[in-house]
Amino acid sequence: MPELDAEKLKENALTSIRLGIEDFQRSKLEKDQGGDPARALSAVRNLFAGILLLFKYKIAVSVDATGDASVLIFNPPEVLPQADGKGGIEWKPVGKFKRTTIDVATIKKRFEGFGIDVDWPTIDKLQECRNHLEHLHPANTLGEVADFVAELFPVLREFILTQLNEQPADLLDTAWPVMLAHHEFFRDTIAECQASWAAAGVPEMMQPWLESCQCEECGSSLLRPSQQDIEEGASVDNQDNTFKYVCVACGHSDLIAPLMIKELNDAYYDDPRDGGEADVEECNECKRSTFLISEQHCLWCGAELDYPTCTFCEEPLRQEDQFNGGLCGYHLHAYEKAMRDD
Ligand SMILES: [Zn+2]
Ligand SMILES: [Zn+2]
Ligand SMILES: [Zn+2]
Repeated sequence: MPELDAEKLKENALTSIRLGIEDFQRSKLEKDQGGDPARALSAVRNLFAGILLLFKYKIAVSVDATGDASVLIFNPPEVLPQADGKGGIEWKPVGKFKRTTIDVATIKKRFEGFGIDVDWPTIDKLQECRNHLEHLHPANTLGEVADFVAELFPVLREFILTQLNEQPADLLDTAWPVMLAHHEFFRDTIAECQASWAAAGVPEMMQPWLESCQCEECGSSLLRPSQQDIEEGASVDNQDNTFKYVCVACGHSDLIAPLMIKELNDAYYDDPRDGGEADVEECNECKRSTFLISEQHCLWCGAELDYPTCTFCEEPLRQEDQFNGGLCGYHLHAYEKAMRDD
């Protein structure tokens, strides 16, 4: 079995995080100050690798024997069925422990086995972000990388405090003040953005979709309503053809409504190739793609159905059934037939 040195894991984790933060700082600087936007991707790679290494370190120090730690950290041999020579089967490990170490999914299982608590939804989100950034041009990632660093911070702080029983400031050294300052800037800016949207007349039920919008240029979630629209007392609700957002991270400005509607549609999209059907359709009242079929109302204008269910069978009806006077397709057909036969 490959050798495992827990202290080495920790050292590598901290180096990876330090390099990630250095990359992050370089990615934000202007070109003439030695900045390099291409560093954004390596920032995210290094930071994500760093936190996974810290997780593995925690697993390694959770057991007393070094041999046990190796068993937990390296990928085990595959267990396959073998003929037992008596007409039955036996399940046996084939080959040796591999030189590769466990992935995120297996770390999760090990943590469950050892009762180690981590904010997995955030880790999953960070991993998704990491994979997503691999496919983008570096210039379009800066805002999203800033989101990534801000989201990583509380998970890292919590893990170091509660699971490693160390002080994050000591352990992370020079990376700590950078992360802390960025996190505070981010938190304050998000709060300011949310406060200024409160005066922008965003339809109540669309609010959650506003919060998940990202800048189309850089991927940042730090979006403010345009100052001009706010000063003119404009409202997103009925001036969605002109109301703009401004990205705090890169200054890009464009219409906010299409972004919100896209967020909503992406969330309810069901791949038709899997036999799924999207749950959002165009609203007959306001003509926006914001009518939630399963809940029978429009999230933008609040339109509801005159006939929510079929008078005969109580099947839920849709917008397209409203012209049938409260009958489902089947009962409309039966009714028309009965009328003809009379
Ligand atoms: Zn931006
Ligand atoms: Zn509507
Ligand atoms: Zn019916």
